Amino acid sequence: TRPTHKNFKGIEKTVFGRGSFDQLDEILAPHRAENEGYFVFLVDNYFKGKSLESRVPVHSEDLTYYISVEEHEPTTQQIDELRDKILATRGLPSGVVGIGGGSIMDIAKALSLMLTNDGSSTLYQGLNLIKKPGVYHVGVPTISGTGAEVSMTAVLTGPVKKLGLKCEWTVFNQIILDPDLIASVPRNWWFYTGMDTYIHCIESENGRMNNAYSHAFAEQSLKLCREVFLGNQSGQTPENDEKLMVASLMGGLSLTYSEVGVCHALSYGLSKILGTRHCYANCLIMNHLADYYPEGVAEFRQMVAYHQIDLPQGLSAEWSDETLTRMAEVSYNLPHMWLHAIGPHWQDVITIDLLKDLFRRL
Ligand code: NAD
Ligand code: ZN
Repeated sequence: TRPTHKNFKGIEKTVFGRGSFDQLDEILAPHRAENEGYFVFLVDNYFKGKSLESRVPVHSEDLTYYISVEEHEPTTQQIDELRDKILATRGLPSGVVGIGGGSIMDIAKALSLMLTNDGSSTLYQGLNLIKKPGVYHVGVPTISGTGAEVSMTAVLTGPVKKLGLKCEWTVFNQIILDPDLIASVPRNWWFYTGMDTYIHCIESENGRMNNAYSHAFAEQSLKLCREVFLGNQSGQTPENDEKLMVASLMGGLSLTYSEVGVCHALSYGLSKILGTRHCYANCLIMNHLADYYPEGVAEFRQMVAYHQIDLPQGLSAEWSDETLTRMAEVSYNLPHMWLHAIGPHWQDVITIDLLKDLFRRL
């Protein structure tokens, strides 16, 4: 049979270093003549009124949106409305710049694609459904861990699915990794989002898709995670911010060339049904997966204890049988993750009842 190894496009350009954010204007300059000759900046609302606001290189013709990501994760409706508004007022922009965490970066990636693809973004949730390349898009992470800066997906919650717009054109043309930007992340978010990287690596490593290429990224990312989250050199320091930024990128590359597993499959169920945020949901679940990832979970618990992170227990007491069933169905419906984590006979092992029992542990 014909081999089916993954053949993926990476980020075109990457700049890494303290203060590199101030190179953004220069980086955008050669692209400013494209399309209608203006840029769209999407900035996490956290930065409104902060010193970064005055450093965003907005020209008079540009559009800037400060977007709050507190209420919910990015939705298909949010992308469609933003796209319609932008096209109606100014036409096709030269490019889109997303400055924020996984939420803002996914909004920037999705917007770039939806500016050139007709109809609702719900039509394109899945693999390779997008018809045309999007506009030039730049990602500037301000919180590290999801790997959204490097991944080929833009995760959107729609009326039916929580699923990414996933294709080669989703990948950023340019990213700017400036570790200074993540210094202000609140401690709990720093931990949850950082743990997303740690979990990406544990899951990528423990499954049949793992290979020498994905392993090399996971190994390095795990080493950096241990430096950032374990022991007396750990914590939010300038040096650790640099390490975490690189760990996030490498964790993302590892899972791109392998796959995520049990924790992410359950996490999607929890997020889709109850709206629990991705990284936090992963932490709630990882705590109870010692049967699947004994070493990873033991180390995860060490990190939780070291940083005195409070992970609530007994949540499932509030959930009806129907809620548990709906969560289990969302999780069950991620065959690529189960195939990776459990193997080709995963359906003999993973059942709706077993998934409901796993959710009952929470
Ligand atoms: P986020 O973007 O949702 O932000 C979390 C919180 O941190 C927000 O309150 C935000 O305002 C705040 N914040 C961000 N930067 C800050 C800073 N420098 N200082 C202070 N506060 C700051 O966080 P996230 O965890 O990075 O992203 C989660 C999203 O990423 C979810 O929507 C999830 O679906 C998505 N995701 C995407 C991928 C992918 O590959 N595309 C992978 C995993 C998760
Ligand atoms: Zn994740």
